[in-house]
Amino acid sequence: MTDSIIVDGLRKRFGSTLALDGMSFTVPPGRVTGFVGPNGAGKSTTMRVVLGLDRADAGTALIGNRPYRTLDRPLCTVGSLLDAGALQPSRTARNHLLWLAHSQGLPARRTDEVLDLVGLASVARTRAGGFSLGMRQRLGIAAAMLGDPSVVMLDEPFNGMDPEGIIWMRGFLRSLAASGRAVLVSSHLMGELQGIADHVVVVGRGRVIADAAVADLLASV
Ligand code: ADP
Ligand code: ADP
Repeated sequence: MTDSIIVDGLRKRFGSTLALDGMSFTVPPGRVTGFVGPNGAGKSTTMRVVLGLDRADAGTALIGNRPYRTLDRPLCTVGSLLDAGALQPSRTARNHLLWLAHSQGLPARRTDEVLDLVGLASVARTRAGGFSLGMRQRLGIAAAMLGDPSVVMLDEPFNGMDPEGIIWMRGFLRSLAASGRAVLVSSHLMGELQGIADHVVVVGRGRVIADAAVADLLASV
């Protein structure tokens, strides 16, 4: 997998709020890139624009060299997946995924592969309605992984996770990068990304403040 996420000069206004003010950075394959900044800095809006869920007033967002809407393989963000919800509580985890795989024209075997990937194989035949928040989050991630995305974007994935879930998520993010994917993970807490992110893009007020390898950032303070 060799796709990058390329964000170039994005501008976006909501009424009198300038949400994105020339947002530009690149997320290369094979790395976890942290996307750090206070609430309101423009992280979610940037991800929504990359996913084609929001339209920028100016600038471009590309995956590889194509805009998202022309891609056949889906990307993922935990936030929008959970919002998209559509989780029917009476369905088992496996049936939920089978239904999603079918609706995307993907082979049923992907269902078992992604359940394994997120560590839910042992509860595949359990009704998802009884799942904890952490398990639902993993199911959402499994759904996002059905199409084997080359690029993964997660918006505040640690929010609401218990300590065990956080440990799992950290390892999972590293394994995604190790498999050559471009991984972008947002957080309003730099510390959450310590030991996971190779590179950090720090943002504030809709633009990039710092863009550096974690090792270089640490050496400069
Ligand atoms: P972050 O993800 O870093 O917390 P956001 O991208 O959510 O930041 O928000 C950036 C700015 O844009 C904030 O001031 C937010 O209030 C505003 N904003 C985001 N989405 C909308 C929207 N749909 N309507 C109006 N304002 C919005
Ligand atoms: P929408 O109705 O919002 O356009 P779709 O129904 O087209 O979304 O989504 C189809 C599939 O594409 C989803 O099941 C999901 O796997 C993938 N997908 C779409 N948007 C996202 C997203 N924001 N994050 C992850 N996957 C997504």
